[in-house]
This record gives sequence, structure tokens and C-alpha cells, in this order.
Amino acid sequence: MQKTSIEDLSKEELNNKIVLIRVDFNVPFENGIITDDSRIKAALPTLEYLLQQGARCVIASHLGRPKGKKDPSLSLAPIASHLSTLIKQDVFMCNDSIGNQIKETIKKQNDTKLFLLENVRFYEEEENNNETFAKELALLADIFVQDAFGTAHRAHASTAGIANYLPAYAGLLVKKELTFLQGVFDQPERPLLAIVGGAKVSTKIGVLNHLLDTVDYLVIGGGMAFTFLKAQGYAIGKSLCENDKCDLALALLDKALTLNKSILLPLDLVVSTAIDDTDSSYIVDAQNIPENTMGLDVGPQTIEAIESLIKLSKTVLWNGPLGVFEVEAFSKGTCEVAKQLATSNAITIIGGGDSVAAVHKVNQAKFMSHISTGGGACLEYLEGKELPGIACLKEKETV
Ligand code: AMP
Repeated sequence: MQKTSIEDLSKEELNNKIVLIRVDFNVPFENGIITDDSRIKAALPTLEYLLQQGARCVIASHLGRPKGKKDPSLSLAPIASHLSTLIKQDVFMCNDSIGNQIKETIKKQNDTKLFLLENVRFYEEEENNNETFAKELALLADIFVQDAFGTAHRAHASTAGIANYLPAYAGLLVKKELTFLQGVFDQPERPLLAIVGGAKVSTKIGVLNHLLDTVDYLVIGGGMAFTFLKAQGYAIGKSLCENDKCDLALALLDKALTLNKSILLPLDLVVSTAIDDTDSSYIVDAQNIPENTMGLDVGPQTIEAIESLIKLSKTVLWNGPLGVFEVEAFSKGTCEVAKQLATSNAITIIGGGDSVAAVHKVNQAKFMSHISTGGGACLEYLEGKELPGIACLKEKETV
């Protein structure tokens, strides 16, 4: 079911309204300076749209982990001035996130269009999804807009609880996330390929299972692949393996057979005796890994096989690196896949976490159709879990 977004509302429904927007301004700082403002920039389209429609914006976010205590080093004040520069308008920095004084300030300062509330996690009630706190937040506005996809998997007062007291809609960032991620499960352009890598089967088995129902082809790479190879009886040397997950791996391979879906596991691998032994790496057949070595990247034959699948697919979802991409010697598989996706005509969706870092590493981010802003939230969505920060939004009426 589709969610109602701010673009589905008429101008009258937004004009002169006070809108509380939950964003993700949890940006990194070094010596008091913001080192990456991409999360602030990602919120601009929603804020600009709401301003154009005549709304007044009250912005809420968390920053860091103040654990329910006021911590001046985690104040959002530096973000208010940075946002003001980016959006070329004054941003009023509130000294709290709830209370009569804030409510009165917003009401009286009619000419001010943008207010930034103080860090909502200064209250332990935020993460406890406390009803009273959610109600207090709701008292500040007429409408709630969810634009923090990165925290949408958390049932907190400002991400979900508040929707019990205000009409709740998706912002433009959340709308884009849902359009692309939902599109993987809901009438995707086929063939649909999912490439899943990363370290552990245990963190991705839910994702693999859910994706297998929708994909045409599935590639399993990264450290995870060795549990699958071992489960099939192959020697994996010193490679990463979760022995207690071999049964799950076999069950997934069986499910693929039953569904008549094809799973590509590594055909060849770059191995070495240790991660820090980058000088003596070599390529081996994936079904014959020498005892004293570990698989640290996919080999050229595998890269070629993935490239063929990308070429014949119309939608590709990628989550997780195919090797230890942080180490130059073992980054080729991951970087090559990023480059192949960049030149592909398919709809390309990069599903959070390290694959996003990999795409940036090779400067190919601008060529992807969608790069998810949520690590944990994206994984939970791909697992088929309901995200509380999304479930609480109004559903679109069907005509
Ligand atoms: P995840 O958070 O599950 O997506 O895992 C990402 C991590 O998996 C990265 O830090 C990679 O270095 C690691 N990884 C990928 N391939 C391998 C491998 N073959 N052996 C060990 N770790 C790997």
C-alpha cells in the first residue's frame, strides 16, 4: 500500500500550516566542524517544497547518543547555522524540543519560517516512545512529515509515536526511498537482479530469503559466500564461515531450486594467508580453496559472470561488498561491480551500508538511480519487516 506524501496534499492543506518534519541531521563532526553535510542537503527538497507551499517548518532530529541527558556538545545549534547558509533563510534555533515556551515562540514569530528544535534525544522519553513526549511534540504543529528514512526502523516518539496525534505524511526523501525499494517487490522491471555481499549470513539471511521471492537472479558474494560453499561440502580453508548457519544456507539453496531461481556463488576467488598479507595473494577456483588461505575477494571469472547478469537485467539492487574492499588488494570485485552498475541502463538501487561507501570510493554515486540513506532501515525493509516510522504514515486513498 502506498503512503501519502506531501506532494499529494493541496496547497490549501499546507498553506499557513505549521509542519513538524522529522529529519536525520545526525551528521559527523570533527572539532566542532561538520565534516559531511550530505544528510542536511538531503532534507532540503522537502523543506523547500513545504516553504513554497506556504508552510512554516519546525524541524526535529537527533544527534549522537546523549542517552536522555542534555549534552551541550550534542546541541543542534551548529546545524541551524549551516542549514541557514544552505537554504539561504534564517533558521531559528530553539533551546528545547518541547514545552509551552517553544510553542509560544513558534506562534509569535510569524515571520520566521524555519525553526530547528533542540536534539530530541536529550529526553529519554524520545527513544522510549513515551506517549506524553510524543503528544508534547505534536502540540507544536498541525501536520507531521516523516523525512528521516535512516531512523524509520525505530519506534521513537518523534519517528512514530507523534503520528498518533497528528496527520502524518511522507517527505520527499522518504517518498523516493519507498518508490525505489517498494519497486523491487512491487512489479519491478524484469529481469531483476540482486547482488548481496557483506560479512555475515546471520545479518543477511532474512534479506536473502525475502529477496529470493522477488528476484530473477541472486548473486551472493563477500564473506557470506563461504558458509554457502562449506554447506555444499567444499573446502574453504581459513575463510570466514558461520558453521551454525550452514543449514540456513542449504535451505536457501533448496528454496532457489524449488522456485527455479538461479543463485550465483563465487566461481573463483582472490585468496591470501591473511588480510594483511597483501603481497602473496593469488586466484583460485572457488571449489578448491587451499587449506592455509582465506578468500578475500571475488576473482575475474566471477566479476565477468556478474557483469553478464547486470547486462541482461533491467533492475539491479546491490547490498554489501563482494570482498574486503577496505584493503586495496581485495577491493577489485566490489569496485568493478560499482563501475559496471554505473554504466548499466538498468534501474540501479544501492541498498545502504558499505556498498554506498564503495560507490563513493570509485566516484560513481551520481550514476546510480537511487542510493538509500538508511543502513539498518534499508536492510529491515528488504527483509520485509514493517518500519514503524513508515507504517504510521497515512495510506494513499485508492480511487
Ligand atoms: P556487512 O556490514 O555485513 O555488509 O559487511 C561488510 C564487511 O564485510 C566489510 O567490512 C568487508 O570487509 C567484509 N567482507 C566482505 N568480504 C569479505 C571476505 N571475503 N572476508 C571477510 N570479510 C569480508
